[in-house]
Amino acid sequence: MPFIQSLCCNETVPTVDAKTLTEYLEIYPGLFQGHGEIVLYDQPREGGGRKAEDYPPDAPLLLGVYQVARERQLLVWLHPGEGHQDSLERVLNRHPDLTFIVHGEETESNIGNLMEKYSNIYFALNDLHGREYPLGDRNSKSRFLAILEDYEPLIEKDLATWQELIEKYPDRFRWATDRGGSAGLWSYDADAGQILVDYAREFIGRLDPEVQERFAYENAQRILQD
Ligand SMILES: [Zn+2]
Repeated sequence: MPFIQSLCCNETVPTVDAKTLTEYLEIYPGLFQGHGEIVLYDQPREGGGRKAEDYPPDAPLLLGVYQVARERQLLVWLHPGEGHQDSLERVLNRHPDLTFIVHGEETESNIGNLMEKYSNIYFALNDLHGREYPLGDRNSKSRFLAILEDYEPLIEKDLATWQELIEKYPDRFRWATDRGGSAGLWSYDADAGQILVDYAREFIGRLDPEVQERFAYENAQRILQD
C-alpha cells in the first residue's frame, strides 16, 4: 500500500505545497493511499536546516496539504516534533474526516490523551526493543544483532511501557518497524527482518489474546481499506 513521501528542498521544508502535491498525484491517480510520513522534527543541515518550531502540524503549508488529502481520500502520516502537541491536537480537532497516523517518541507520552479525545488518530508502534533503537541512526548490522541477541529484558520493558495503552485502545495501535529510514540498507536483509518479526511475535503473543491480531495486522488492514 504505497504512501507518497513528497520530500522537498533538501528538507528545509517538510513537504511540497498543495499545488505541487496535486501535480504529483495526477501522474498516477489512485496509486497512493496516503501521504507521508511527513517529518516535522528538527532537520539540522549544514548552514542551518529546519527547526521543528517552524513547521508545527497546523502550519499553513500543511493545512493546504490536508485539503489535498481530503479531496483524494489519503491517509496522513505525521511524525511530530518536540513542542507540537497542542498544534497536533488542533489539527485532529479541525479535521475529523481525515485519518491521521502518527509515530515517534515525541508523541508517545501524549498518545493516550489524544486517543481519548479524538477518534481519527492512530499510532504506528515501531519504538519497541526497550528503547535501544537497534535500527537507529547509523547503527551497524552487528550492533543491531548484538542489541537483539538476548531480547527478553527488552520485551519486558516494552510490555511495561505499552501493554496497558494498547489494550485500552485496541483498535488504534499497530505494529510497525521503521526499517530502512535512518538505518542502513542492511535493515532490509532477510535475517534482520526475521529477527524483527520474531521479536514482534514474542511481544504480541503476550498481549491480551483479544487484542493480538488487531495490533498485529487487523487495524492496519482496516485503516487502509476504509
Ligand atoms: Zn518518523
